[in-house]
Amino acid sequence: MAGRRTIAVLALQGDFAEHEQSLRALGAEVREIRQAADLSSPFDGLVIPGGESTVMGKLLRELSLFEPLKARLAEGLPVMATCAGLILLAKRIQDDPALHFGTLDVTVRRNAYGRQLGSFFTRGSFGTMENVPMSFIRAPSIEEVGPGVEVLSRFEGRATAVRQGRQLAMAFHPELLADGRLHGYFLEEVCR
Ligand code: GLN
Repeated sequence: MAGRRTIAVLALQGDFAEHEQSLRALGAEVREIRQAADLSSPFDGLVIPGGESTVMGKLLRELSLFEPLKARLAEGLPVMATCAGLILLAKRIQDDPALHFGTLDVTVRRNAYGRQLGSFFTRGSFGTMENVPMSFIRAPSIEEVGPGVEVLSRFEGRATAVRQGRQLAMAFHPELLADGRLHGYFLEEVCR
């Protein structure tokens, strides 16, 4: 049951508060990760919010959160990552020498939708769900996916949401919209 899950939300930067609200609305228990000591209590899954991947990557390292979280992700900790979070998980980042957790077998390109169309709203399918609202904000594109990666959503032919085992990542922001289905999917299908 979603109600009994405890989800850790990386709360260093970005729109973590909106994720917390979405998770609580579904009955999940929420715990913020702000420093290494916050990792000592147990949790069932992790949310990495949108924001700025370079800033979050730097803070993760400065606060000694990077290595322990990377190890847990490699061990199969369920994770839901949105936008900058997707960039943090990606194995390959085009046109950027930075690499962060590198646990998700995709190639991403930062700020891929250009300055004019930097932010937009659309609706689309996500797996078997239809008409899911999706808010893109200076979003990365997913340029390539590895063989073990399932594509759950596309926009104009390009993958926008993927799952690889217990890693769920999307280029858009479901947390900014009232539709709780994707957080529900994470709690029910990925954190099982
Ligand atoms: N453009 C940001 C980055 O490259 C991501 C934007 C977002 O998370 N909304 O990190």
